[in-house]
Amino acid sequence: MEYFDIQFMNLTEDDIALKKATHKFAEEVMRPTAKALDTMSAEDVVADGSPLWTFLKKAYELGYHKTLLPEYYGGLGLSPLQVHIVFEELGWGSFGLSVLLGVICFPFYVSCLAGNEELIEKYVKPFCACTDASIRGCWAITEPDHGSDYIASGEDYFTTPKMHGNVQARLEGDEYVINGQKSAWVSGGTIATHALLFLQLDPKHGFGGNGICVLPLDLDGVTKGKPLEKIGQRDLNQGEIYFDNVRIPKSYMLAEPTFYEPLLEMILASANMIMATWSTGIARAAFEEALVYSKERVQGTRPLIEHYAHKQRVFKLFARTEVIRAISRNVLNLNLNVSPPLAEYSLVAKSQCTEMAFQNAHELIQIMGGNGLTREYIAEKLFRDARATLIEDGNNETLERHGGHILAETYPRPPLDF
Ligand SMILES: Cc1cc2nc3c(=O)[nH]c(=O)nc-3n(C[C@H](O)[C@H](O)[C@H](O)COP(=O)(O)OP(=O)(O)OC[C@H]3O[C@@H](n4cnc5c(N)ncnc54)[C@H](O)[C@@H]3O)c2cc1C
Repeated sequence: MEYFDIQFMNLTEDDIALKKATHKFAEEVMRPTAKALDTMSAEDVVADGSPLWTFLKKAYELGYHKTLLPEYYGGLGLSPLQVHIVFEELGWGSFGLSVLLGVICFPFYVSCLAGNEELIEKYVKPFCACTDASIRGCWAITEPDHGSDYIASGEDYFTTPKMHGNVQARLEGDEYVINGQKSAWVSGGTIATHALLFLQLDPKHGFGGNGICVLPLDLDGVTKGKPLEKIGQRDLNQGEIYFDNVRIPKSYMLAEPTFYEPLLEMILASANMIMATWSTGIARAAFEEALVYSKERVQGTRPLIEHYAHKQRVFKLFARTEVIRAISRNVLNLNLNVSPPLAEYSLVAKSQCTEMAFQNAHELIQIMGGNGLTREYIAEKLFRDARATLIEDGNNETLERHGGHILAETYPRPPLDF
């Protein structure tokens, strides 16, 4: 369906061409791949011959794995608005596959954020040059014993020695030796070649003693668990990663404890503004389905859309989509232009946009009645996928508590110096 984006008014010809090209990829490649993967077992999703691999190769050939990366390292060098345009369309195609492309890029993106020149040369540039999907990142933070508390740097328990990480590292000479386990929630973990790994370096300071490193997953001592079965974003593979005396050079540690909390904030700001951006796509997908269905489905001799009360329901989906786009575009534009990014705005965007996108998917099912629950239509998949976003990348309550902590500690902020 040709959807009129009010913000087309602000787009150049290049922006519109980018939007159309990405939409074509989302419609012709992502949607069919996501539909097929959704019905497969988690193990089959990542098996040889799975449509996942064809999808990834096409995505890399077109450069979608490096959407966020700067041009001087080989990235696409897009403007913030163009990044939004691409992510909205990818989110429309499939939220799960969008997250996969996002985490695939994450160790490399964060190496740039941290300004680690050695890793940029060794890993970021080859990743940008990769066209066969053979280099794939993941973000390994959640642990069997730690979910929300891993990012809750404002809570009083965060820096107490009782906060014992499941993955720890000790320094031996100029190498870190890593042991432990990350949970089954590591997106892309089952197929990743590199991890952005969060780990504990100095347990006496609790999670204040943490660090963040880039870890190639082909090193001795790394093993992986089985892919996770779950109800939503089934096209996004997830699984545990285990570390048994894995050794990395000290220089692979992007942040040791002194830089850990600032880098954690930057990562939260980045991940959450992008989650909001993808939410525009899933909210719009729900709106478009509602509109098409409402014009086709006849009840009481007329299409649903011609019933007075029904018009308001469809309008609500349109309204939420426009609000989500406005918030997420503004925040992306802000946070790709300031350094460090303002995490509180990303937390606003993620928590509000995912909630509204979920409302759209929920309402779509109601609009479609029984048909909304069947596998004949995309509605039930949008609903399952959108439900996961309320938990993913930090559940929304935790992010809101963290946002409140930022306000308490840093507001009023001094004026921004652009
Ligand atoms: C689709 C998906 C993709 C994901 N991708 C990744 C990934 O790529 N990498 C990765 O490492 N992890 C990933 N995760 C994990 C995700 O980050 C965690 O699920 C999330 O941080 C919440 O942790 P938890 O599930 O352990 O819930 P818990 O932390 O156990 O929270 C359970 C409930 O308790 C509440 N709660 C927790 N602490 C407090 C408190 N102090 N006060 C009041 N209430 C509290 C929470 O709000 C929540 O409602 C993913 C999750 C999903 C669903």
